[in-house]
Amino acid sequence: MKTIISGGCVCGKVQFTVEDDFEHFYFCHCEQCRKMTGSAFATNLFTRPDNIQWTEGQEFIKRYEHPTRTFSQVFCTHCGSSLPYVSKSGKALIVPAGSLNTEPSKTPDAQIFCSEETQWHIAGLTAARFPKFPE
Ligand SMILES: [Zn+2]
Ligand SMILES: [Zn+2]
Repeated sequence: MKTIISGGCVCGKVQFTVEDDFEHFYFCHCEQCRKMTGSAFATNLFTRPDNIQWTEGQEFIKRYEHPTRTFSQVFCTHCGSSLPYVSKSGKALIVPAGSLNTEPSKTPDAQIFCSEETQWHIAGLTAARFPKFPE
């Protein structure tokens, strides 16, 4: 029996649980992931399609499909947070790592689409670090 991890959106309306049983963990630097997350890269865990129990707020879940590319985004309609979704092919459940309430046991396998990585992300990796906002 695997550990159960809970997750959800930032406003708390949508809640789910997954088994801590992930096959892949990728950071994706592609332009679409950057736009979707509003950040430097997406952090996606991959598991089997049925590894999800929605425990609250399924009525707040919306799915976006890119019209031409194999690209989807699922999010809370109230707060916009990214949520898990089954890939278009139906072969995997993709779980945004940041949607989990605790850390998964899987560590990242790879960074992908590095040809599209931004220079500001690379520069940011060596920027000064503060525990909270700088004083
Ligand atoms: Zn929400
Ligand atoms: Zn991507």
